[in-house]
Amino acid sequence: MTQIGTKCVQAGYRPQNGEPRQIPIIQSTTFRYESSAAMGKLFDLEASGYFYSRLQNPTADTVAAKICELEGGTAAMLTSSGQAANFFAVFNICSAGDHVVASSAIYGGTFNLFAVTMKRMGIEFTFVKPDCSDEELEAAFRPNTKAVFGETVANPALAVLDIERFAQVAHSHGVPLIIDNTFPTPVNCRPFEWGADIVTHSTTKYMDGHGSQVGGAIVDSGKFDWTAQSEKFPGLTTPDASYHGIVYTEKFGQGGAFITKCVAQLMRDFGASPAPMNAFLLNFGLESLHLRMKRHCENAQKVAEFLESRQEVAWVNYAGLKSSPYYDLAQKYMPNGTCGVVSFGLVGGRDAAEVFMSKLQIAQIATHVADARTCVLHPANATHRQLSEAELEACGVGADLIRLSCGIEDADDLIADLAQALETK
Ligand SMILES: *Cc1c(COP(=O)(O)O)cnc(C)c1O
Repeated sequence: MTQIGTKCVQAGYRPQNGEPRQIPIIQSTTFRYESSAAMGKLFDLEASGYFYSRLQNPTADTVAAKICELEGGTAAMLTSSGQAANFFAVFNICSAGDHVVASSAIYGGTFNLFAVTMKRMGIEFTFVKPDCSDEELEAAFRPNTKAVFGETVANPALAVLDIERFAQVAHSHGVPLIIDNTFPTPVNCRPFEWGADIVTHSTTKYMDGHGSQVGGAIVDSGKFDWTAQSEKFPGLTTPDASYHGIVYTEKFGQGGAFITKCVAQLMRDFGASPAPMNAFLLNFGLESLHLRMKRHCENAQKVAEFLESRQEVAWVNYAGLKSSPYYDLAQKYMPNGTCGVVSFGLVGGRDAAEVFMSKLQIAQIATHVADARTCVLHPANATHRQLSEAELEACGVGADLIRLSCGIEDADDLIADLAQALETK
């Protein structure tokens, strides 16, 4: 199995003789053992197996294994949301007193998690523009920096990150690059091939694709050598007192240490585990991900070209347009297309956005994106409401920005809908 489409359909689950063809939903909180001694080994991480679904569940692990194969990683886990995935991915290697360099062009919820909530936990973030100079990027690092974070294609700014450049700089400082790959999905970009070390997802978006479950995933490339930076990552390379002194890198190796620690400590203590049913629904989405991504991108390209041709439209941002400052980076990292999300502003600015959106018939106003059904959002009035004008600018989200998430309907209908909404006064 070498091709991404085949992996979308089949990876992660190989039924044995007589077993169900569809992945079983193990709707059970707990698992039975014949002796306390056998169970004790699980609690000590001396044996692998299931004992309580707050930590691990077979259905979730089956789906995580598929996402792991799609990204080309060594280990993966599901979480109950994309927020939990990003929090865990960073918190797994950071503690109070540590510092992270992050792209400023990231999802509003992630920005809030980093700049407000994790700050309260004593972890500081320095935000840099994704297209900052090498000097600016270098200047953001401190002796206590533990990671670099960015989004392949930023939601909703749609900036494309130069993953290779960020990975090189991160590695020169002895820290991993964590990439949120939600928008392109591994169908369009596999950040590990460009040097990223950890990938996260909000599986709520294209991976599910049908607006049916909120979820997240974390995947480890297995390429980052934690032991070479032992003093920076003691949580992975020194004994864990909560598991009788095991050392994750020793016991689980470079390919398994990160995810095992994340499950054994963070899932255990925070419990952001996905429901088995939700993992099952996510797998439904994954089975058609390669087909849907192609259609999302085709529709978005046509819609972006249409919008660019209209005089009512002040600007259009889509990395598939030659006019986009991110066109070249998109061609390099995502030659088959980026995603189905297009952002634009109207000549009338913020007020015109509200009127225009109320006229749309097919595109529906929803706090959602990356769905089979076309949806539209005005971030300054919704997801980014809490941000000041200056913060909005820093995230690349102007007050007039309309985020249109092109679904998998017929492009002609989407364009006709946009045209009538632009024309009605
Ligand atoms: C939606 C989103 C998140 C948060 O995911 P949830 O599943 O809503 O918690 C994180 N990153 C990106 C890029 C997103 O689009």
